[in-house]
Amino acid sequence: MTETTLIRNADWIVAYDRENDGHAYLLHADVAFSGDAIVHVGKDYRGEAERVIDGRDLMVLPGTLDLHLHAYMEMHGKGFFEDLATKHMWMTQLFEYTWLLQEDEESAVASTQASVCDLLKSGCTTMAELYCSGLPHHGWVDMLGATGIRTYVCPMVQSGHWYTPNGRDHVYTWYEEKGLENLEAALTLIDTAMAHPSGRLHGMVGAAQADTCTEEMFDRCRAAAETRGIPLQTHAAQSVMEHREMVRRHGRTPIEWLGEIGVLGPNTLLGHAINIDQHPWINHHEHRDLERLAESGTSVVHCPRAFAQWGDMMRSLGGYRAAGVNMALGTDCYPHDMIEEMRIAGLMSKVASGHVDLLRTEDVFETATLGAARALGRDDLGRIATGAKADLALIDLRHPSMRPVRDPLKCLIYSGTAGAVRDVFVGGEQMVKDQVVLSIDQDHALDRLQEGQNRALERVPDMDWAKRRADEVSPFCLPVR
Ligand SMILES: [Zn+2]
Repeated sequence: MTETTLIRNADWIVAYDRENDGHAYLLHADVAFSGDAIVHVGKDYRGEAERVIDGRDLMVLPGTLDLHLHAYMEMHGKGFFEDLATKHMWMTQLFEYTWLLQEDEESAVASTQASVCDLLKSGCTTMAELYCSGLPHHGWVDMLGATGIRTYVCPMVQSGHWYTPNGRDHVYTWYEEKGLENLEAALTLIDTAMAHPSGRLHGMVGAAQADTCTEEMFDRCRAAAETRGIPLQTHAAQSVMEHREMVRRHGRTPIEWLGEIGVLGPNTLLGHAINIDQHPWINHHEHRDLERLAESGTSVVHCPRAFAQWGDMMRSLGGYRAAGVNMALGTDCYPHDMIEEMRIAGLMSKVASGHVDLLRTEDVFETATLGAARALGRDDLGRIATGAKADLALIDLRHPSMRPVRDPLKCLIYSGTAGAVRDVFVGGEQMVKDQVVLSIDQDHALDRLQEGQNRALERVPDMDWAKRRADEVSPFCLPVR
């Protein structure tokens, strides 16, 4: 028999409001779930329940969705990437440094597990993990399944990549045939994930970047996504360098080119799309990219923190939404704290637009929940509604970061910390209890990640064009005595 859990008389529930296709506060009411789905939202649940959670001093939230991260690698860069910029490639983001810290098989697993702990503990219940299909595949899908978070497995493929031989030039190297072979391996992996017995693994086709995939690669990726009825994600308009390269190659902005070759559409997610034609660093002769995104129904996954670290920002999240673009959020690099990511998204949008009303708290939360679900074509995620997946976060309203409580979603997004997230359920299964992740030994994962980071730092001279040591590339922020 399937066990039913009842959250009884919760002070606040952020429930789905069908009429407005948005969220609404429901006060002093119940949420019940059975198996992996919600069976009741409202006052006075009268059915049986094997387990009852007292809802006093709690806000029940739908779990958020992080639709763009690289959990397997980015955590290796913590304490290394924060203040790095390439002197001769200013405004181009980290082309010189991106590949310096290389994970190995063991630390990739540790990094993934540690990242998922951060996500779960911040109330996030779905991630899209964009990882490099060059990694060994053995056991990868089962490892993702065991983390407990709902995962869109998105192995990225590419026809080439960029690097710098000297800290000034931006050079592409191509291997188109090998890239297509990798696509076959990536699709096998996706099919394995989709058949995973946990029911929490899903597939997403990953064409790495607009400037590193050929038209043929995009065609094949699009067809593979369509055949499987799953989304496609690629990085696009993420740097000035990429824009210049695409104008040089095609006389088109990256967004324009993707539209021309048929990649834009409701089944496509673009990571970033920050350096579009209207961005002041781009200085393009016309501003039509937003219109192209909106008209095609393409979703954009916004990762504000990573770009803020490089001195760049979307202009603006509120503006993109107002233009009709479906927006989602991602943490991309680290930390994988979706509360912090929502806060940065909200604040950066206000700064970028100079406007308070253009992106309100409810819009930020919509982006991290319903907007993301829309991007995935899912009507059972990002909402608390009968029939939706029981992906839930219970927020402790007595946590100091939440008090005084007047409007708890505003408190959470603009003042709250992950410490206020008490319990988290994914598909009805409890993954966080009293702020402890049940599915992963977080300390153990972090110990192994530390060892992995140490190994990666040792290898920096082998990866760097100038053979510099890690502490030469990224000196400590204070003198070391
Ligand atoms: Zn990315």
